[in-house]
Amino acid sequence: MTQATLQTSTTAEELLAAVEAADNGRDILNPATGELVGRAPAHTVADLETAVQRAVDSQQGWGALSDEERCDRLMKAADAVEAAAEPLAQLLSREQGKPLNGPNARFEVGACSAWLRATASFELNEETLVDDGETHAVINYRPIGVVGAIGPWNWPMMITIWQIAPALRMGNAVVVKPSEYTPLSVLALVHVINTVLPDGVLNVVSGEGDVGAALSTHEAVGKIMFTGSTTTGKKIIEASAGTVKRLTLELGGNDAGIVLDDADPKAIAEDLFWGAFINTGQTCAALKRLYVPDAIYDEVCAALVEVAEQMPMGVGLEEQNVLGPLQNKAQFDIVDRLVNAAKASGARVLTSGEPDYDAPGYFYPTTLVADIDPDNPLVVEEQFGPALPIIRYTDLDEAIAQANALDVGLGSSVWSSDRDRAREVAARIQAGTVWINKHGGVDPRIPFGGIKGSGYGLEFGVEGLKALGVPQVISG
Ligand code: NAD
Repeated sequence: MTQATLQTSTTAEELLAAVEAADNGRDILNPATGELVGRAPAHTVADLETAVQRAVDSQQGWGALSDEERCDRLMKAADAVEAAAEPLAQLLSREQGKPLNGPNARFEVGACSAWLRATASFELNEETLVDDGETHAVINYRPIGVVGAIGPWNWPMMITIWQIAPALRMGNAVVVKPSEYTPLSVLALVHVINTVLPDGVLNVVSGEGDVGAALSTHEAVGKIMFTGSTTTGKKIIEASAGTVKRLTLELGGNDAGIVLDDADPKAIAEDLFWGAFINTGQTCAALKRLYVPDAIYDEVCAALVEVAEQMPMGVGLEEQNVLGPLQNKAQFDIVDRLVNAAKASGARVLTSGEPDYDAPGYFYPTTLVADIDPDNPLVVEEQFGPALPIIRYTDLDEAIAQANALDVGLGSSVWSSDRDRAREVAARIQAGTVWINKHGGVDPRIPFGGIKGSGYGLEFGVEGLKALGVPQVISG
């Protein structure tokens, strides 16, 4: 029997059994039902030491392989993930809460194999910088050594792949520290990928913030790939100073979308909806505040309400659902507080805004809020959940100024029937990416990263590979 057929028959229960704690674990509960998903190992800083040492020991052999050999392993890793796709998606749905369907669990696992393959396909060769007869200068990217990958709970598998695929391709060994909210998904993913990698190259330590902090100060770790909140990102910058680590920081965002007055409300409504509500709003580069001109304000609101009312929310494993719960109580409370602040200010709630506090699970109903002040907390704080403020504007310059007023700049979008006009507006927005007539559509070939409080460094594409290497110039 081939390895692929072996894994195709793997169940979510078998994956769980392979990664669960033997003893002293931590209960992980399904955020939709409160049911026990499994017990995560409670790894400590001592376990981190062991993992880093394993990474150090294996890195030389891995780094000495040819680029072609490492790409071949990434392709095999993609095959392994694909073969185990359904059990991985089911486990992800139970632990993170996201539905199997829609742009959720199955989509996320599919993105993992797609990103592995894409990362193995980019060309990164020695680059000649100067060759004028007198000077010959070239630049190459060598392995860093050991890379630490610290991730969040919203897209736990996909973001792990974003961090580890380029790190492995560039000849590094990796120590992953998943979020304490979603460790089982990442442990299972790493377990599947490790069936095709040499021992010790890819390690995972399922601990809490203190383990992430220890990774950020560790002498043997040359780089931290971090995705999470701006608050934790700032701590990592401080913690890494002592060892002068390289950092890629993908931090929080509060993405603005600006609709122009020539947009067609009905034509853009569904893409606007998913730009905001993908993963039930728990997405770094989701549309979190929408600016709409007075001339088409009511039509855009009505078109959004119509789409929102067609999107079922519920338990992830039930096939009809495309929206799920908030992943944890703390996030539910943030969304609840911000929607209440909007209501208290007199803003107009178009859909729901009324959670059932007695029902099981952290479900917050799809909420659209109109006629809200531009400086309301629901607009200026990151909600990271299914509540979208829609701000009315009359002067485009003012809308752009409001979009740029915050201390974050991850994504943003401009919506118009005239692409050239949209591009002119896009150039004035302070964000790492400005999408036109879509929001949040990341692509493994296109570099992605934030500015201001949303972090620095680029992921994806050739730029993303370079960020996982040490540049070396040879000149003579
Ligand atoms: P978080 O910052 O609370 O946690 C992220 C990770 O950091 C976890 O694994 C956590 O254990 C670890 N950690 C905690 N304290 C640490 C410390 N002192 N040193 C090192 N690591 C530590 O973030 P979260 O709540 O899991 O994620 C939500 C946030 O992440 C949102 O703000 C969201 O916008 C952001 N996010 C950004 C992106 C992006 O690509 N820019 C993607 C997803 C999420």
